Amino acid sequence: MTDGLNNAITRREILPLAGLVAGLGLGSGLRWWRRGQSALAPGQGVVLRPPGARSESAFLAACTRCAQCIEVCPDNCLLPVDLGSGLLAAATPHLIPRQTPCHLCRGEEQLLCIAACPTDALAPVAEHRALTMGTALIDQATCLAHLGTICRACWHACPLIDEAIVLDERGRPTIVEEACIGCGLCDHACLVEPSAITMLPFGRRTAEVGRAREVERG
Ligand code: SF4
Ligand code: SF4
Ligand code: SF4
Repeated sequence: MTDGLNNAITRREILPLAGLVAGLGLGSGLRWWRRGQSALAPGQGVVLRPPGARSESAFLAACTRCAQCIEVCPDNCLLPVDLGSGLLAAATPHLIPRQTPCHLCRGEEQLLCIAACPTDALAPVAEHRALTMGTALIDQATCLAHLGTICRACWHACPLIDEAIVLDERGRPTIVEEACIGCGLCDHACLVEPSAITMLPFGRRTAEVGRAREVERG
């Protein structure tokens, strides 16, 4: 008969657990603990992975939880997922864009987290435009500009201004999903509390765009 422990630890969780234990054994695994962890909202799952992350299943299989990407980030953008969020994702890096969006290494061509990753969990991209961290979604019911107030905070914050966020003739912002790289800077900049912008996992908003770009990143 299968007991509760066996039910709790599935085969899918064994590999990342082994990686976590190995990391702890090498001494590097404790770094993520010292940096503090962040719990995932119940049922929410990881929203944004670091730049260059492969598809979620491939990322989880490749990431060794070494925390090198977290350590190297100059803006402390990356946080390790806490153990309470489950063994599968524990200690993997993620962003909470409202708190810690990705600043794309302040315009540097080389993104340090990708360069630091010792596996192919984070893979180099040809240009920043090719990143697929997530997709922004504006709630027109709470967005100040859509409610008639002049506000361009998200538009100003976007590194792909007039490409990923465009303004209509009345100054109302719209996300261009095909161009949005999911950095979360618009969510971070939004003046409304809670933010009028939600960051969705990559490809969640429309399956067609998600599938097309999923093929590109492998
Ligand atoms: S690209 Fe740079 S700023 Fe963004 S998460 Fe990686 S190291 Fe941090
Ligand atoms: S729309 Fe938002 S998440 Fe997308 S690229 Fe611009 S700032 Fe980043
Ligand atoms: S910052 Fe927020 S409130 Fe302002 S225009 Fe952008 S989404 Fe709307």
